[in-house]
Amino acid sequence: MQRYEKSRELYERACQVMAGGVSSEFRRFSHPHPLFYEQGQGAFLTDVDGNEYLDFTLSQGPLILGHSHPHVLAEVARLSVDGQLFAGQHRHELELAEKLARLIPCAELMRFSLSGSEADHTALRLARHLTGRNKFLRFEGQYHGWLDNVAVGISTPSLEALGSREHPNKLPWTKGLPADIAEQCVLLPWNDLALVEQTLAEQHHDIAAIITEPVMCNSGCIPPEPGFLEGLRKLCDQYGIVLIFDEVITGFRVGLGGAQERFGVVPDVAVFGKAMASGYPISVIAGKRKFMQPIADGVVIHAGTMNTGNPSVAAALATLHVLETDQVHERLYRHGLRLMEGLREAGRQAGQPILVQGLGPMFHVGFTSLPKVRDMRDSLAYDKAKGSKFVAGMHDRGIRLIGRGLWYISAAHTGADIDRALATATEVLQTL
Ligand code: PMP
Repeated sequence: MQRYEKSRELYERACQVMAGGVSSEFRRFSHPHPLFYEQGQGAFLTDVDGNEYLDFTLSQGPLILGHSHPHVLAEVARLSVDGQLFAGQHRHELELAEKLARLIPCAELMRFSLSGSEADHTALRLARHLTGRNKFLRFEGQYHGWLDNVAVGISTPSLEALGSREHPNKLPWTKGLPADIAEQCVLLPWNDLALVEQTLAEQHHDIAAIITEPVMCNSGCIPPEPGFLEGLRKLCDQYGIVLIFDEVITGFRVGLGGAQERFGVVPDVAVFGKAMASGYPISVIAGKRKFMQPIADGVVIHAGTMNTGNPSVAAALATLHVLETDQVHERLYRHGLRLMEGLREAGRQAGQPILVQGLGPMFHVGFTSLPKVRDMRDSLAYDKAKGSKFVAGMHDRGIRLIGRGLWYISAAHTGADIDRALATATEVLQTL
């Protein structure tokens, strides 16, 4: 069993000078308290107490090749010797853009940023200009970054608090939002095309964009219902609404061309981040030429001092190179699907009602007897207390999971790692 004394001491010290002792809200909820790490190597992380973890968090997704991939680190070092940030153009960012244009169906023209949040923000700004309309439609339980206009409808204390399916309450995620911010969005449950149809029939004149995760990974891991993404595409065409796919999680993970390639539905604009550069800060907003043109013309402003720093661009090029040449996706699916099936079997053996849902490279494990979760409202059926106990039990046995039950597979996970995760899960499930 793991011990956490040194982390505890550092965490208490950190609370004196760092707000909440952490640098992101999501890091406040680690088991048993925020931990301090010293090293990441391949599929493993080591903390300051010397505990080693088989890591299925991949630092919230970016580390698709595992920690400290030698090619990524070598390329970052090589392309950084001549400078770290020119705040001007360089050949490598052009190469990166040309590569993305080859890989991603909608990516005719693009701009690089630092984070998914910023790129999502840019996409919504662009859509407002393109349509001359003020609102955007988004879905309950999806996450498009932490900035103001997407900080409603992310989470809820209860099903009742959500209100009706047709007119959900737009619950603020944070204090400090402008009073009228919820007016900027129309909120609906995900995966319900009839409801989107009905809402747009009444409100399309006000709606600039539909923004959606193509696989909903921020409340469970929910694939789109057959026809849902296609239906959104059709409605956007019908009403002149910009279709934005937030591929910050799905991008490069479900395949090199993202979910838009996998599901064969091409959005007008898409946003990528996370797995693109193995943990170095870079994101991209990419779209069809005519949709991105206002940024090219400087009519819609996008900027950033730190954009396309040499280490980030080097990391992105190196990550894409390995993804393209090392058959990574075949392994992510093979290992992920085996793990998913093994976890279901472990649940059956332990008599625990487990629902394992997802695509393979990422999936969610939750405790419910529902046969399927379709949207955030369904996901409230997950027994969170049991989920937390499971994650804590895995953690104390050296397997690091994201608290809300999402698992990420990396290229560094081996068949033996999957076996070990299954054996440990079987043991923990028996203790619940
Ligand atoms: N969109 C989605 C779908 C995400 O999951 C996230 C981050 N979890 C973001 C946007 C925001 O990205 P970032 O944290 O890089 O700002």
